Amino acid sequence: MPSLSPVYRGRFAPSPTGPLHFGSLVTAVASYLEAKSHGGEWLLRIENLDTAREIPGASEEILNTLHLFGMEEDGPVVYQERRQDAYQAALRALGKQNLIYPCNCSRKEIADSSVLGIEGPVYPGTCRDRKYKTEFSGAWRLCTNNNQVEFEDAVQGIRQQRLQRDIGDFVIRRADGVFAYQLAVVVDDAEQGITHVVRGGDLLNSTPRQIHLQKLLGYSIPSYMHVPVVVNAQGEKLSKQTQAAPVDISHPVLQLVKAIRFLGQTPPPEVSENNLRSFWIWAIENWNREAIPKNMSLMF
Ligand code: GLU
Repeated sequence: MPSLSPVYRGRFAPSPTGPLHFGSLVTAVASYLEAKSHGGEWLLRIENLDTAREIPGASEEILNTLHLFGMEEDGPVVYQERRQDAYQAALRALGKQNLIYPCNCSRKEIADSSVLGIEGPVYPGTCRDRKYKTEFSGAWRLCTNNNQVEFEDAVQGIRQQRLQRDIGDFVIRRADGVFAYQLAVVVDDAEQGITHVVRGGDLLNSTPRQIHLQKLLGYSIPSYMHVPVVVNAQGEKLSKQTQAAPVDISHPVLQLVKAIRFLGQTPPPEVSENNLRSFWIWAIENWNREAIPKNMSLMF
């Protein structure tokens, strides 16, 4: 088990929707190098909340690839699928504060009656005043407010959002019973004692929702760093949907060198000829977070 209160505890939290591709390797490497260059711990979490989207065998394949590339976790791997009770307890804690409500508006109803926020339609609050909050099947939303949520991202700088205006009351448990990413990630980061979150820039806009939840649930707020996500020539994030190729496991050091170059590091040519062990020694010693491009996405 990890020690109780490290100065730095980071994590990598892949969704097992396919094998590790170059985009997820970049995020894994960034979170690992940040943790190790701080003398910290690095944990893993498999984000398989939505078991219908999970590809059988993908979790094992991702973990094997990370190990093959020399990244070893400092504690037990957490699987979100097994953590329903913890999410349910958080939902209850929010319910006790009268901060959640059931909603069965359709996507079309929401789109027809709302203004656009930073991630699509802002939920207009139609179900906020529903009387019967328990006997129902549908989604659960969290009440937001217009207080400013501000945080300083270690790469992207100061960011602010007013959740009610920019996002709206958001879903924390879907109508099909699956807990939403926003709730699960906050519960798990708290329980794993994560002090520093390093992940792709596509999640920068989710951070204020997570900080809002952390405050409501009485959790401490980790530091955040969002590194550029890898996009293809069409500007799409590498993913299973965009047919991203799995990383080439026959040449781990070459792939790792590509990943750190993408992150703005400048390894001398001989680092590519190193074995894995000397690659990591070089990369940890020379890791320069100031050199990470301040973009939310970059083409590779
Ligand atoms: N599971 C998410 C993904 O694979 C990452 C979530 C996070 O790091 O907060 O994109």
